[in-house]
Amino acid sequence: MTASYHFHGDLVSLLRPHWRHATPVVQPVTRAASIKDVIEAFGLPHTEVGELTCNGRPIDFSWPVESGQRFEIFPILPPWDVTQPTRLRPVPLPCLRFVVDVNVGGLARALRMAGFDTLYDSSWSEQRILRLAEEESRLVLTRNLDLLKRKQVIFGRAVRAHRPADQLREVLNLFAIDQPPQPLSRCLQCNTPLQPVAKAVVLHRLEPLTARYFNTFHLCQHCDKLYWAGSHVDRMRRFLHEVP
Ligand SMILES: [Zn+2]
Repeated sequence: MTASYHFHGDLVSLLRPHWRHATPVVQPVTRAASIKDVIEAFGLPHTEVGELTCNGRPIDFSWPVESGQRFEIFPILPPWDVTQPTRLRPVPLPCLRFVVDVNVGGLARALRMAGFDTLYDSSWSEQRILRLAEEESRLVLTRNLDLLKRKQVIFGRAVRAHRPADQLREVLNLFAIDQPPQPLSRCLQCNTPLQPVAKAVVLHRLEPLTARYFNTFHLCQHCDKLYWAGSHVDRMRRFLHEVP
């Protein structure tokens, strides 16, 4: 009276340690449960699953598990287009934009640097992140697997890499983005798109050497942070350059 579960690709690494060496996992069916609930009980958030089959036939997350069934669980593979409906996620996102959890804060900054619409604040509660994901149709980026199992999260990603540059590369690869939308177009502090501003308008705020050597300035209308092509922007460009 068992069912079997075959986890493909790197999904195995997201299972609870107990199950990582047991694939295919064979388990007694002891209660009425959907395949989504059973997968998450093994530790794997539903957000990581790209395709599910039962005895070779494609199914969705609501499929009721019964004994004798054989499940194959496949990862999401690049290129992931979140704007197209799929069997597992019939309501797509209107566009690719993010809300980032505190455990990958460096990635939030890197994504803004690359021009992606990325909400992040280190003080936000889990509830706040879930609400933003739901109300603004945003994809959740985190290393917290439990957060991705919450019912409000339809689109999310368990970030595998550790360094922000590697994490940005992971995200660009997953969504098959060759060119970031508009590098250096978004405020790193608050995510607001930057506006060009005339030098004369901000002259009083500039150090003498900045005023002497730079002529192009961008201003965040929300938090008033000023950006210009200098060591700061050079550092950002170098960072993005490291990420092919
Ligand atoms: Zn700002």
